[in-house]
Amino acid sequence: MSSEGWRSFLTAQARFHTYSPGNVLLILSQDSHATRVAGFHTWRELGRFVKKGEHGIAILAPVFPKKEPKPEAGERQTGEAHSDEGKVAVESDHVPVRFRVAHVFDIAQTDGEPLPEAPARRLTGASAEAHALIARLMRLVEQEGLRLEYADPKTMPRGTNGYYQPMEGRIVVSNAIAPNQQAKTLAHELAHHLLEHGRGREPGRPTEEAEAEGVAFVVCSRFGLDTSDYSFGYVANWSRDEGGPALVKQASAAIQAVAGGMIDRLEAERAHVSVRQPRQAAVLER
Ligand SMILES: [Zn+2]
Repeated sequence: MSSEGWRSFLTAQARFHTYSPGNVLLILSQDSHATRVAGFHTWRELGRFVKKGEHGIAILAPVFPKKEPKPEAGERQTGEAHSDEGKVAVESDHVPVRFRVAHVFDIAQTDGEPLPEAPARRLTGASAEAHALIARLMRLVEQEGLRLEYADPKTMPRGTNGYYQPMEGRIVVSNAIAPNQQAKTLAHELAHHLLEHGRGREPGRPTEEAEAEGVAFVVCSRFGLDTSDYSFGYVANWSRDEGGPALVKQASAAIQAVAGGMIDRLEAERAHVSVRQPRQAAVLER
């Protein structure tokens, strides 16, 4: 979170504050395809401009009593554009006196700078933990009756590290990524399979990615591989248009269940692989 990428991502996130359920309904009733909405001024601060001839989406903006809210830890309250956007009253003593009609615009009605993406940095390094985990994951792949193939990234969809094909019973992992990333990617693709994605359980791509990456993160952490550099940005990007934390919360039950089951099975594999693990790890470490 200290990186510049995270900072700009979170700054942008912070601008798209929460709308009340009533306003969400108002927004969707006027533009069912709306994904990211903000007021005219907020878009301008983000380097984007409302296109000529676009009509705003009407919402109800609360009007608060004159009393100034306490500024947070040295932060100055700018206030200008914020009242245009139906900000939800969070503090209990901050109750609106009335509502007025305000207008917001969907991102599709704007032009300009692309919004910052959360950084999902590919993992580097070849830790002993990653090698041991890969060996165990491969046993699970086998037990599930799946085929695992390493492929040249040029033959894979652009920017992907791996994929799972439920119909073919196949997992493909890039042969050009570091072992730490390989372990993470293999856990992610196997998680798609264990979560039954594409095999009768299809909660939608953003949820499926949040679930698979959540499982991969939990499993890798359990085996001593920290994937947060990659995982948080990955999930943030997939859930960006789906309510962010709400989507992760929704995915958490499946993550917990499948990660738990996977860890139990990998633990059982530990006994089998540990015999040859030291030699193998030493060889691959080079
Ligand atoms: Zn995936």
